[in-house]
Amino acid sequence: MKVKALAKINLGLDVIRKREDGYHEVRMIMQTIQMYDVLHLYKAARPGIRLHTNLPYIPTDERNLVYKAAQLLMDEFHIRRGLRIDLQKFIPVSAGMAGGSSDAAATLVAVNRLFHLRLTKRELMQRGLAIGADVPYCVMRGTALAEGIGEKLTMLPAAPDCYVLVGKPALNVSTRQAYESLRLSEITGHPDIYALAQAIRDNDLSAMIPHMKNVFEPGLTRENPVIGQIKDLMLENGAFHAMMSGSGPTVFGLFTSWETQQKAANALRESQLAKTVFATRFFNSRRRK
Ligand code: ATP
Repeated sequence: MKVKALAKINLGLDVIRKREDGYHEVRMIMQTIQMYDVLHLYKAARPGIRLHTNLPYIPTDERNLVYKAAQLLMDEFHIRRGLRIDLQKFIPVSAGMAGGSSDAAATLVAVNRLFHLRLTKRELMQRGLAIGADVPYCVMRGTALAEGIGEKLTMLPAAPDCYVLVGKPALNVSTRQAYESLRLSEITGHPDIYALAQAIRDNDLSAMIPHMKNVFEPGLTRENPVIGQIKDLMLENGAFHAMMSGSGPTVFGLFTSWETQQKAANALRESQLAKTVFATRFFNSRRRK
């Protein structure tokens, strides 16, 4: 069985407060994009899970979210047969694009189908939360408001379709570290995420732009000026908006035309500011009514 694990970007990201249990309460707009990892799953006679990936530096044991997701369902349903999984990574790792979470979500969906477990999407989302806060969203996909630790999801109508240019500099940011170094009291401009959600409901691109901000961006840009340089390059080359996704360091630019997006992609490649340059579009399974 072949499945795709799609990446996400954040059209807006706010951190509200640190909870007693150490997690942060967030409010963000998630958007799936057409950039994906590919997973092939094969039933095997020999019991156990065997995972292979094309990247030598990510774990292939219990530490991999794919492994965790497969194990979770196989344990619950007492599946004695074995499973071989080949994971081809294209989504940059530690980049703020939920690559690992999306791999886990795709694995839940695939194992459910492969072994005829008959779990609904909602039931898969519930199980996904045990693996990570973003996993339920990655099962759901599309445009959504995420609150709580990212698991309280409100489906939104598809955001106005845009051409997206992804630029990831050659640095990795651990999500945990990004949250730990965030000084909540020093955040000056909290974006109005509810206003952004309303602009999406109204299908009003120009009303969305003033609210498209990420509270992680100023601090991380100060430490890593390349983030700002990629953003400026996108804006100078016709992006109507550019910002950082998740806890970074990936920057994305939004364009209204394919030609401008391609021109900006070439300029970004030539600049050598980004290690990964990828031109794509939003992914929305549901159309606007
Ligand atoms: P997020 O947007 O959720 O912050 P991220 O881009 O920061 O995601 P990931 O790429 O999801 O981070 O994961 C990064 C870390 O998770 C790495 O340390 C990596 O070794 C580990 N990891 C576990 N499973 C996977 C996986 N399937 N793909 C990538 N990394 C994985």
